[in-house]
Amino acid sequence: MSFLSHLECALCGQVLEADRLWNLCPECGKPLLARYDLEAAGRALTREAIAGRGANLWRYRELLPVRDPRHSLCLGEGWTPLVHAARLGQAVGFDHLYIKDEGLNPTGSFKARGLAVAISRAHELGVRAVSIPSAGNAAGAMSAYAALGGIDAYVFMPRDVPQAFVAECRALGAEVTLVDGLITDCGRVAAEGVREHGRFDVSTLKEPYRLEGKKTMGYELAEQMGWRLPDVIIYPTGGGTGLIGMWKAFEEMEALGWIGGERPRMVTVQSDGCAPMVSAFNQGQEFAEPWQGAKTIAAGLRVPAAVGDFLILRALRESGGTAVAVSDEEIMDAARLIGRTQGNFVCPEGAATLAAFEHLRAQGWIGEEDEVVLFNTGTGLKYTHLWAEAPR
Ligand SMILES: *Cc1c(COP(=O)(O)O)cnc(C)c1O
Repeated sequence: MSFLSHLECALCGQVLEADRLWNLCPECGKPLLARYDLEAAGRALTREAIAGRGANLWRYRELLPVRDPRHSLCLGEGWTPLVHAARLGQAVGFDHLYIKDEGLNPTGSFKARGLAVAISRAHELGVRAVSIPSAGNAAGAMSAYAALGGIDAYVFMPRDVPQAFVAECRALGAEVTLVDGLITDCGRVAAEGVREHGRFDVSTLKEPYRLEGKKTMGYELAEQMGWRLPDVIIYPTGGGTGLIGMWKAFEEMEALGWIGGERPRMVTVQSDGCAPMVSAFNQGQEFAEPWQGAKTIAAGLRVPAAVGDFLILRALRESGGTAVAVSDEEIMDAARLIGRTQGNFVCPEGAATLAAFEHLRAQGWIGEEDEVVLFNTGTGLKYTHLWAEAPR
């Protein structure tokens, strides 16, 4: 049973009824957050009870928004391995390095977490057609869960998106529209279909429940570490759902009495070809300026503007974290190093976390004793075009 109680606007605090469909806050146009009766949940649920449950994110179902489990669409998402990267650690001269490998999720990325929960909840609230503008992985994940739920799926992707992303959506039964431009342009085209055909828009943070799926990375990390947290989390940030979601999970777990007040320092990594959050963080801004001429091999980081920008920046600052930009060349070097030391074919977004680690280590921002978790957010298998030539 879910302890979902209401929705709350992340900026203006407007409170809304949870059991009907919402996109952004009707008052101020910012993201809505799902709120739970954590006191009651803390009394009803123990960490020990969760330990015996299935190896997927629905093990945290009381803290997820789906009320009737018959609507929970499950392809085995979540409960991904947290690996001590010993050989990689040796190569970079640092022992406490861990990789949370999200590439093992259904559809090959952590987007499965967010969309499993968002599409399940949409199914519960009677949605018949869903729409998404996506740089790649989110579209595949939405298509998969929509297929499982018998919901029509409409995908809008940049025309230059790698072929594997298009193929995946088509194979999963979605209608794919290729748009000239970036994800922001796809958003504009998708919005027409939402207005004219009543499709439900599941864009990043434009409905409240993808965040709920992604927050399970925070619950899992704590559970896998024996209900404590690492010193540093490095996360490749596009729309920021994962980072904001984990930060929310830590707050919820403290309210549940499952962890104390300690928090990891949260690090955003972006590509220097599209680094709006790094720029806003460095300039001390509350909101980010849209990035002009976004260009990077890391498709998931090619996000020039994020509706949740203020939430990303808030989490970075409250945690004593930071934001780092790395080059595409550093990303490829890092991907090679992870591949040949750990046997893990990572996506460029995931590789960026190692490149950021190396920057922060060189600056002394990461200390000898820090325990560091890198998030590999997806498999490298959808990016084979980056490996056409033999590595140097
Ligand atoms: C979407 C995506 C990201 C960025 O995720 P956000 O939570 O939106 O910041 C990172 N890596 C991969 C592989 C992605 O698909």
